[in-house]
Amino acid sequence: MLRENSIPVKNSFNIWFNRSKRKEFYTTSVSLYKTTINRDSNNRFPNVILNSNDVGGDIYFTTSNFKEPFEDNYGTFLIRFINANFSSFETAYTTFFCFYGFSILGEFYRDIPNLKLFKSKDDFVKTYEPIFIKIKRKLKELQYLIKNCINYMYNINNNLKDKNFSPFEKYLTYAIYNNLFKYSNNIEVFYFQFFAHDTLNITSQTITPRIVREHLNSGVINIDDSAVFHTQYLSNILYVSLAEIASNKNVKIKTCKNCGKYFIPAKNNEKYCDIIYYEDDVTCKVVGASNSYTKKRKSVNGIKLYRNNYQRRLMQVKRSEDEKVKLDFENWKHLAKSKIKEFNNNEINESELVEWMKENKNS
Ligand SMILES: [Zn+2]
Repeated sequence: MLRENSIPVKNSFNIWFNRSKRKEFYTTSVSLYKTTINRDSNNRFPNVILNSNDVGGDIYFTTSNFKEPFEDNYGTFLIRFINANFSSFETAYTTFFCFYGFSILGEFYRDIPNLKLFKSKDDFVKTYEPIFIKIKRKLKELQYLIKNCINYMYNINNNLKDKNFSPFEKYLTYAIYNNLFKYSNNIEVFYFQFFAHDTLNITSQTITPRIVREHLNSGVINIDDSAVFHTQYLSNILYVSLAEIASNKNVKIKTCKNCGKYFIPAKNNEKYCDIIYYEDDVTCKVVGASNSYTKKRKSVNGIKLYRNNYQRRLMQVKRSEDEKVKLDFENWKHLAKSKIKEFNNNEINESELVEWMKENKNS
């Protein structure tokens, strides 16, 4: 007999991963207080995002399911948790719980109230804030434990201990030393969830290799998807997420050079994160790139000279009636810009750029 398809979805939590697509999927119930469901054209499924136009009024909730789960980049649960700000209910909500709901707090608090339609913000906050306050210390302890492990594994924040060992070797050392395995005591694992749990009305009486082949070819059975992990325990979700990332050699965790948050770079040389919380947030990748251009403009002597000469010569043109002055200026501007381009492309070095700017100061 097949295992019964009885994986709870409502007010519950399930997570699974796809290594090759670098995605993770989860199902949960979330309140739509300050949040909205976002559909990104690059993703097959929606995700949850904060919405800055908080209009007030009724607060609805929604539950994702196996046919339409929430989709995030690989490792997002773990990354959001270590970046979360647990100093107040409001910050804990907007940096973490708004994405995952409260049902994952089962190990810290018995009888977490189920999500429902709340009539006001007050009603919502009064339901969950007291619970948060009671368990806040435990959340912070757990965050510290996981953050420390990640700092150790990836040599973050000047943690250079055992730096010649691989992240996975260090992960296992840390996990055994701190007995992280105790956080795997409340997980149910469902293998081949869509196929083996009767969602396609396949029974042990009717199964044939032909049917299996059809589903493999159509992608219904996707061997790149991990098993589905079902748990109500935050620590257990973290255990699964950390084990997944630690055992994946193609992934590492860094801190962002702009905002300091932990992130998983898409390419190993990336310095800035692309973490956003609100719909209209600009990523550090975008901010960082323009900041480094501004810095360059201020610090590269050749570019400083160009800007000074530019201003001076522009004044001359404005004061002069002579067409030739204007033409010379246009010509100089064109040449100077192409020199800067050569410098930006590393075709000439900074002193060559300075030299050129000095030599061509006046026409
Ligand atoms: Zn950042």
